Amino acid sequence: MKYTLLFAFLAPLALSAQIEKQAAWEDKFKQLGPELATPNDQRTASGAPGNAYWQQRADHNMSITIDDATQTLYGEEIITYFNNSPDVLHYIWLQLDQNAFAKNSDSYAVEQMKIEESVSYNDLIDLNPWYDGGFKLDYVQDMFGKSLPYTVNKTMMRIDLPAPIKPKGTFSFKIKWWYNINDRIRLGGRSGYEYFEEDENYLYTMAQFFPRMVVYCDNQGWQHKQFLGMGEFTLNFGNYDVKITVPADHVVASTGVLQNPKEVLSAEELNRYTQAKSSNEPIVIVTQEEAEKKEKSKEKTKTKTWHFKAENVRDFAFATSRKFIWDAQAVEIGTSKPMAMSFYPKEGNPLWGQFSTRVVAHTLRSYSKYTVDYPYPVAISVHTKWMGMEYPMICFNGGRPEKDGTYDQGTRDGMISVIIHEVGHNFFPMIINSDERQWTWMDEGLNTFVQYLAEKEYDRNYPTRRGPARNIVDYMRGDKSKMSPIMTNSESIYAFGNNAYGKPATALNILRETVMGRELFDYAFKEYCRRWAFRHPTPDDFFRTMEDASAVDLDWFWRGWFYGTDHCDMNLKDVKTFRLNTHNPEIEKADQPADISLERDIAEKLPLEVDQDPDMRDFYTSYDPYRVTALDRVEYDEYINKLSDKEKELLSKKMLYYQVTVENKGGLIMPLIFELEFKDGNKRRIQIPAEIWKRSEQEVTKVFACEKEVTSILLDPQLETADVDLSNNAWPPRVVPTRFELFKESQGRSRENQMQRAKREAELLRK
Ligand SMILES: [Zn+2]
Repeated sequence: MKYTLLFAFLAPLALSAQIEKQAAWEDKFKQLGPELATPNDQRTASGAPGNAYWQQRADHNMSITIDDATQTLYGEEIITYFNNSPDVLHYIWLQLDQNAFAKNSDSYAVEQMKIEESVSYNDLIDLNPWYDGGFKLDYVQDMFGKSLPYTVNKTMMRIDLPAPIKPKGTFSFKIKWWYNINDRIRLGGRSGYEYFEEDENYLYTMAQFFPRMVVYCDNQGWQHKQFLGMGEFTLNFGNYDVKITVPADHVVASTGVLQNPKEVLSAEELNRYTQAKSSNEPIVIVTQEEAEKKEKSKEKTKTKTWHFKAENVRDFAFATSRKFIWDAQAVEIGTSKPMAMSFYPKEGNPLWGQFSTRVVAHTLRSYSKYTVDYPYPVAISVHTKWMGMEYPMICFNGGRPEKDGTYDQGTRDGMISVIIHEVGHNFFPMIINSDERQWTWMDEGLNTFVQYLAEKEYDRNYPTRRGPARNIVDYMRGDKSKMSPIMTNSESIYAFGNNAYGKPATALNILRETVMGRELFDYAFKEYCRRWAFRHPTPDDFFRTMEDASAVDLDWFWRGWFYGTDHCDMNLKDVKTFRLNTHNPEIEKADQPADISLERDIAEKLPLEVDQDPDMRDFYTSYDPYRVTALDRVEYDEYINKLSDKEKELLSKKMLYYQVTVENKGGLIMPLIFELEFKDGNKRRIQIPAEIWKRSEQEVTKVFACEKEVTSILLDPQLETADVDLSNNAWPPRVVPTRFELFKESQGRSRENQMQRAKREAELLRK
């Protein structure tokens, strides 16, 4: 009974395993079909904008005032909307991003929380939103001052038009609003203020501060998916003319070019500013000493208005504070000389004075090489405590040293990386203007990839986090039930950093180094940037262009890396060694291994029947199949004479043949890279394109002909394919040791950085 039962349980299991194996053919090289949009006159099958490509435009003319006493922003704007579409528009949509901070915001409502063992006071206080955020609209009017009917739906606002906007038509209208600026350190957010308790001053990094047009486009209509927090922005290009009124002792950093430097800068500042425009190294325009003086005097009543203009930008941001130190230099990019600038409070020094502007300049040069020449007149890095956030021509970056001016290496490298990354966002998505609300990877992934290239050009051994294949392995082997493909909407991504930054950046690096090669990749990637600069690309446009410009079929790669969650795990399952049958009787008949029983029988002199009774003997009793006969020799000579010279040469080389079988355990197909090591210590790299998996997805066999004896074979010797299990990559099998570290409980000095340690050592030596 017992055995029957066991059998009954086992059988279905075995059967299901078999079915699973049989059903696993996935057609991994199937061309992307339903996944991609049907090509049309706006977007071609080659991935380029079509002959009927169009996009809308929105110009903004704004007057903004920052009330430093109450941390309030007041704004008025005239938006001029250009309908370049072939469609008649009966209403228009605007984005009210600040409403994500309104008390009734969905961003708060959909945020999940669990009561863990310890909960912070702030977490509990924030359960009921208390900060009165969101736009307060004073009016929405036409150009004659007549109110326009509008409907606010959370972070979106529809304006019903007095008359439809016809194709090629324009519509101008006015909005007045204000809002309470959020404490960015306490409440988070991409923009807001930081309060410095010690000197009682504010530093404002301002963005999403004005109602702006929703994108209306050929492939989505109005892209007015609500702003929930993760999925960033989908924005129109346009020209901006912005006047920013702040306390008279503030310094303003902004998207665009300063129009009235003579009005807002002192004679000395103006002189330095002019000097910086042609300097190859940073010139300090406002010094730390000057900034510290203003921190104390604090202008309370007088204001100044800074005037900026920006052309063809998708957004506008600025920063303002009396704490700002300001330095700038010129950067040569092609035939133009944009200015790299930094704005930072004394708390950013000494790091910021030394590095920020130089890193901005490096980023512009490096990215311009791989994408398009930086087209804007300025690029600005503004200091914050820890964030990183990007806008056209300006970004807000973290990296703050200790109060004593020392910093650990992580702080320094973190600052350099975040500046490269955020300045790099000028290219993705500010210029190559993808839809961030839908696809995080299109800007973060592409940007992180070029960031990796720029970091390697900054310093060869720069501690890059994302890009090398081996760094994504832990994520790739993770829990598949939670993982989402790269091609997932921004709001639904699990493991945001790895999925939207790390994996696409790694995938592109693998494409460049291992699948396509640098020459084909760089050309195609640059072509994508050139085609879609100042336009709205989709993932399809990227996938198609990379193939179109390189003649490399990459559908399998997009399918595996962007539409799937499989990982790479190649198992070097079996290696068999063969040599040719020479047909030479002297060789083939020799060296037969002795039979052990036979050997012992002879030693024991075991009596044999055929010896005792000779009648039992015949021809075969004494026939030795291994004896080389005269006839054998003649036949061999005949065989050799029939061979061509080439065949004779092959036979004489005594080649060894290694039949290698690789099993695809992870599902993700990749090129196979073998390293053969020979007995004499020499090595040979053999790379086989991923197409070897075309006819058999689970297992492939390949034969390598070698003149010398192979002592070992290694799969993916340079860790290029993100193979998650290296223990099955070698023949003969190798033990891959897992590294572990011994540590002693820290002695209470764990927070001491290397600079502080060096200081302490100097003190010790002085004693
Ligand atoms: Zn980013």
